[in-house]
Amino acid sequence: MKYYILFGPPGAGKGTHAGAIAQKYNLKHLSTGELLRAEIAAGTELGLKARDLIAAGNLVPDEIVEGMIENAFDTIKGVDGFLLDGFPRTIAQAEALEQMTAARNDEVTGVISIMIPDAVVHERIAHRAAIEGRADDASDATITHRIETYHAQTEPLIDFYKAKGKYHEVCGYPGSIDDVRERVLSLVEEF
Ligand code: AMP
Repeated sequence: MKYYILFGPPGAGKGTHAGAIAQKYNLKHLSTGELLRAEIAAGTELGLKARDLIAAGNLVPDEIVEGMIENAFDTIKGVDGFLLDGFPRTIAQAEALEQMTAARNDEVTGVISIMIPDAVVHERIAHRAAIEGRADDASDATITHRIETYHAQTEPLIDFYKAKGKYHEVCGYPGSIDDVRERVLSLVEEF
């Protein structure tokens, strides 16, 4: 199985490009953010636990997202692999993922990172707020907090995967959506 990680700050375009990659390589796109929003919409116990944390721009506890990912690995069949979008977001999650793949006699195939400057993160999320109506996109303070959370907790994953020779990066800015998609797809082609 292939285990690709789609990496980058909030608003980098992970969700925008995931579909094209998943389709081309017959991967299941797993967005922990989308899975969590579905739990909230369905009013589940897990959704209730996650709702306020997400709205405030904080991460939900590692065990919650690790459980969602492991459950997907166990139950989803008929694909050549997984495209993880928004997971892992902490070193602890990355270590849990190492264990999950090792338990399946496999390993992370590679990290596809889309990088954009912080100023562009703000601009993109403010624009997305008007379209998608996400609570965590709504206020400037929350966006700023998510950027800080990204730098503090998620950015260390770059060195984690560089040390394993698995980190690959493209520029998500400047360029049109088509330009960036082209960059992302040709990067994956090199793996
Ligand atoms: P996203 O759609 O990837 O921007 O995720 C939206 C929100 O869901 C994040 O700001 C977090 O609050 C939560 N979330 C998504 N993925 C994770 C994760 N891997 N670890 C912890 N929290 C997450």
